[in-house]
Amino acid sequence: MALAHPSRQPEPGRAELSINPLYTRVPMHIPKNELPARGLDPDLAYQLVHDELMLDGNARLNLATFVTTWMEPTADKLMAECFDKNMIDKDEYPRTAELEARCVRMLAGLWNAPSVAEAPGCSTTGSSEACMLAGLALKRRWQHKGGTGKPNMVMGINVQICWEKFANYWDVEARLVPMEGDRFHLSPEEAVALCDENTIGVVAILGSTFDGSYEPVEQICAALDELQQRTGLDIPVHVDGASGAMIAPFCDPGLRWDFRLARVASINTSGHKYGLVYPGVGWVVWRDAAALPEDLVFRVNYLGGDMPTFALNFSRPGSQVVTQYYNFLRLGFDGYRRVQQSCRDVATTLSGQIAELGPFQLLTKGAQLPVFAFTVAGDQPFSVFDVSTALRTQGWLVPAYTFPANRTDLAVLRIVVRNGFSLDLAEALVADLKRLLPTLRGQQRPGAASFAHGA
Ligand SMILES: *Cc1c(COP(=O)(O)O)cnc(C)c1O
Repeated sequence: MALAHPSRQPEPGRAELSINPLYTRVPMHIPKNELPARGLDPDLAYQLVHDELMLDGNARLNLATFVTTWMEPTADKLMAECFDKNMIDKDEYPRTAELEARCVRMLAGLWNAPSVAEAPGCSTTGSSEACMLAGLALKRRWQHKGGTGKPNMVMGINVQICWEKFANYWDVEARLVPMEGDRFHLSPEEAVALCDENTIGVVAILGSTFDGSYEPVEQICAALDELQQRTGLDIPVHVDGASGAMIAPFCDPGLRWDFRLARVASINTSGHKYGLVYPGVGWVVWRDAAALPEDLVFRVNYLGGDMPTFALNFSRPGSQVVTQYYNFLRLGFDGYRRVQQSCRDVATTLSGQIAELGPFQLLTKGAQLPVFAFTVAGDQPFSVFDVSTALRTQGWLVPAYTFPANRTDLAVLRIVVRNGFSLDLAEALVADLKRLLPTLRGQQRPGAASFAHGA
């Protein structure tokens, strides 16, 4: 099984690349799916790979992804200078290691750790790895406290897939709270109801990938405080701030979701989402040394001293960590605040304009994460899937998907506003949507796609 893409068969058609006659003086036969017997000159190899990628989408029109698709030229330059740096090689690259440590301290401060100098943390390849590490720390803490049953973790069914992976890979039961009515994420009551002596932790998401809403972290913590008073169970909370931990500190400084809440043991974020760095960098920070069991930490010998590491990977690129530090210096608190606030302004303006078109109903407005979900309201002859297909004809990537239990009856479109998606682009999107509506309205019924693939 080809794990890189288990469902991918070789493309139908010829098994060789077609070569533009301008590229070579003699005809060449270059296989697509086998390692070629002999190599090519770099210019030709470059041109062939470059041409292959021409059909990938235009990232600026991709309103599906949370991940950074543009950095400024000075960041590109720094990144190129650091492509060779291996994050694990602290001996060879002590300054890269120092910049990583500074980023951790900046994040610990931003998230109000009680003692910034004593909050352990590290970079990762993304939030997924960060969540694995945070989950492992929770599991080990529970074991140290004498837990012996089958461990479980409580979370909303709207969690990102990395938490289902965590549960599967590390033998933890995922206790998923379903959606109900207009509740599309975890509530304090439902979270507490599923906790018992084998609960290693509760995951609260800031914010949900389904609709961009923040889960009520403070209220979840308060309900767990009350549970502890009642039963003695002391259950820590991990905040999955993949997106929101780089939004809320700047745009919602009064919101209490971070280490100001004593029950919050750890927080992760994706440096490559609203941290504004190219993929793959993530971060995880623990409240204090007690939140990260010492026996999970490996000591690598580092210039005669010793350097603690906690990671799933060994070798890993250092350039994203360096450009994360660059962004922190370059933008500062105020720069991040302006970038994130302008994303939020675009999101709320765009959601308002979409609501005014008539046939759509907003689930969220983009006033928390700059992300909103909307559905087709009432009895229309088209579905969200038809809208997604229609927008694709204009180059826009706006995903449509069905919600999980118990709202599988609900299907939505979701728009993620990232830095670089300007008000001008938002206006162009609304104009396209307006222009497509008469055709959509002219359909016989939902799914009778006027814009179906290939139609
Ligand atoms: C994106 C996301 C993740 C996974 O993050 P990666 O950085 O893509 O690994 C986890 N949780 C939430 C809430 C997310 O939005």
